[in-house]
Amino acid sequence: MKRLRAGWVVPVDAPPIRNGRVVVDRGRVVRVGPDDADAPRGTAIDLGSGVLLPGLVNAHTHLELSHLAGVVGPAPFVPWVRALIAARAGETPEQVRGAARLAIAAACTSGTAAVGDVSNGLYHLPDLAASHLRAVVFHELIGWDPERAESSLAWARARLADLPAELAAHGVEVRPAAHAPYSVSPKLLALMAAEGGPASIHLAESAAETRFLLDGGGEFVEFLAERGLGHVPFAGGARSPVAHAGACGILHPGLVIAHGVQTDATDHARLAECGVHVALCARSNLALGNGLPPLPALVAAGVRICLGTDSLASAPSLDLLAEAVELHRAFPQVPAEFLVHAATLGGATALGLADHGRIAKGTRAAFAYVAADGEVVDPFHHALSGASATGLFFE
Ligand SMILES: [Zn+2]
Repeated sequence: MKRLRAGWVVPVDAPPIRNGRVVVDRGRVVRVGPDDADAPRGTAIDLGSGVLLPGLVNAHTHLELSHLAGVVGPAPFVPWVRALIAARAGETPEQVRGAARLAIAAACTSGTAAVGDVSNGLYHLPDLAASHLRAVVFHELIGWDPERAESSLAWARARLADLPAELAAHGVEVRPAAHAPYSVSPKLLALMAAEGGPASIHLAESAAETRFLLDGGGEFVEFLAERGLGHVPFAGGARSPVAHAGACGILHPGLVIAHGVQTDATDHARLAECGVHVALCARSNLALGNGLPPLPALVAAGVRICLGTDSLASAPSLDLLAEAVELHRAFPQVPAEFLVHAATLGGATALGLADHGRIAKGTRAAFAYVAADGEVVDPFHHALSGASATGLFFE
C-alpha cells in the first residue's frame, strides 16, 4: 500500500482536491481525498506541489508507424498519404516492433496510461501486452473495391479470431475498424455497420476528402487511380463526410472518429445526437495543412470530445498533454477543465475503459503528474501550462 500526496489531486469526475492524497494498493486506487491528519498504513510518497491527474488516454494513435518519425515529413495531406504508403512498402515486422517499443515507453513516460491504437499489421501487440499501456487496438481495414468487400471482411474476421486469447488478460483488446471514407467503400462500411462496427475511422480530416465525398472529384480521384482503383465508380453523394458516414450506417456511440476538422453545425448536431466520440489530433492536423478542428462549436453542440496524438509520421511526439496544450493555446475560450477532461475521462469513455480516466476508488493506479516549482493556484491551468507530465504506474 502506498500513499501519494500532491499539491492538487484532480479526480476529473469530482472537484479537484487541494493538498490531496491518493492511496493505492495492488494496482488500484483504494482511497482519494484530502491529506488529512489520520495516519493510514503504507509508504508515504510526497510528489510535491504539482498536479496529480489520472493517467492520460490517447484515443487515436498509430504506434506501428513510429519508425516513420522524421521519414514522412510535414506535407499537404494527399502527398503525405502517398509518401506514407511508399515508406511503408518496405517495412519489416522487426522494424515496426522496435520503434513501437520505444514509442510505447515514451508515451508512458509522458503520462499516458491507455491508447486507442490503429493498426493494420498487428505486429506489436505483444509489446503492448508487455507494457504499462492498456490498449484498444483498432484493426484497420482498407478496401475501396466493393467487389471485394465481403472477402475483406471475412479475412479480417479470421485474422481477429486467430489472435492469442491471452492478449485480453494483458490489457490488449482488438476491435474491427475502417481507415477512411475515401479508402473504404460505402458497401464495406455498411457491412461493418451490420456487425456492430467499425470502432474507429478517420473522418472529416482534409478538404480533399470533403470534396471527394461531395462530387467524387478532386485529388483522391488520381490517388485511387494510382492504386489501381480507377475503375470503381463513385460520384459522391453531395454530402459532408459526417453525412456520408451516417448514410453508411456507422455513426453509433461505440465509434471513435479521428479529426472532425471538416465539420459544420449540422454535422455537430448529428454527432452529438448519435453519441459518437471525436478524437481531436490538432498537431497532426496542423502538420498536414488541414487546419484546426472547430473546437468551440463542437463543445457548444455537446459532441463527446477526446484527444489523440495521431502517429509519429505526422505529429512531433506521443505526448498527449501537448495536444491539450495546443488546443488551449488556439482556443483560450474553451475552459482548461474541459481539455483536461477530454485528455482523461473523455478518452476512457470513448474506448469503453471504465477504470481509466478518473481517480476514484477501484480505478487503475496509473497517473500523470505535472510538477510545479511553487504553489499552484489553478490545477487545470497548471496542467496545460506546457510543463510535461510524468507517468506514475503502480502495478
Ligand atoms: Zn490517424
